[in-house]
Amino acid sequence: MEVYLDNSATTRPYDEVIEYMNEINKYMYGNPSSLHTKGIEAEKLVKKARETISESLGVSSREIYFTSGGTESINLAIRGFLEANPRLGNHIITTKIEHPATLEVFRYLEEKGYKVDYIGVDENGVVKLDELEEKINGNTALISVMMVNNETGSIQPVDDIAAIKNARKRDAALHVDAVQAYGKMQVLPYKQGIDMLSVSSHKIHGPKGTGALYVNRSLRIKPIIFGGGQESSLRSGTENVPGICGFGLAVEKTFDKIEENRLKVKKLYDLFCGLLKKEGVEEYKILSPHNGSPYILNISFPNIRAEVLLHHLEEKDIYVSTGSACSSRKKKLSHVLEAMSLKACDIEGAIRFSFSSFNNEEDIIYTVDALKEILPKIKIKRGGKR
Ligand code: PLP
Repeated sequence: MEVYLDNSATTRPYDEVIEYMNEINKYMYGNPSSLHTKGIEAEKLVKKARETISESLGVSSREIYFTSGGTESINLAIRGFLEANPRLGNHIITTKIEHPATLEVFRYLEEKGYKVDYIGVDENGVVKLDELEEKINGNTALISVMMVNNETGSIQPVDDIAAIKNARKRDAALHVDAVQAYGKMQVLPYKQGIDMLSVSSHKIHGPKGTGALYVNRSLRIKPIIFGGGQESSLRSGTENVPGICGFGLAVEKTFDKIEENRLKVKKLYDLFCGLLKKEGVEEYKILSPHNGSPYILNISFPNIRAEVLLHHLEEKDIYVSTGSACSSRKKKLSHVLEAMSLKACDIEGAIRFSFSSFNNEEDIIYTVDALKEILPKIKIKRGGKR
């Protein structure tokens, strides 16, 4: 029995998405820029996917640009906006718990001379609004914040952030990394005062290497990739037609059942927490906030090393992450859990279980049983080694 509980790292594509992409690769392989019927056919397919994605966000299809994924969307939003609006100021703001796709762009810009503020979070991993309000000034050009944190599932108060930004510096742009929120909760840029928003296909059972950026039509933004002028000259390069179409279909299927899926996943989340208690599993501490996304459950087992537990679970065909998959190959402590002021022993034992609608109750029961069996075996003894 395979139990895949690493859905925040990536998801298994829907079977229908794989079939649709195969069909496109095999028969509808035209270049959307070509003038003949094969090209026009491909162009129509991309247009359809663009409409599906714009409808899911309640925005215009002219405001959606396809990219190679969340990372590229984020890079394009931040760098493209700043490049196009140099007079807005040289101060930019983000948070301490962002994904490296954002943090590394900010670090790069800091080296280039931008003044950067990294806003802290409370013990639930939620951005401190008073700190944000204090930092925004006349020179602030852009704020970038994630909607759902990929390690803990904490939900950020994006609406409040937009309101604060508008009160303090209306023409600064608000970019939101919605990679872990899209398809799992309401994401409505117009209503929420979001100027730019990044999403990724492979987190919602679509293919890898495809994403999209929403840019409000009133904004000026410059490309960071130059070439043939595709995507209204904002993102050159022949469109990844199978990827874009697979993404479109994944969005259709996900949004069709967004509420049903959320309820299903919430039940699994509650079952997991309930069983840990009922089965008397070794010492553990739930690090995810109780009001976070039900798709992510971060639990610390203070007397074990997360990586050791991960590999023991893997032997039983259970797949999870330590911290976040994007950074778990590095030996550093999670910057997100550190920002929440957690103790090093709690951080070292943190495992992220992340769910999708593909999971079922059996997966959870099997995993908790496995934890019960493995944990006593790998417990670190006081004053000694494992
Ligand atoms: N932002 C968040 C919150 C993520 O979790 C991830 C991926 O893990 C990304 C951005 C990067 O997205 P992609 O893998 O599509 O580049």
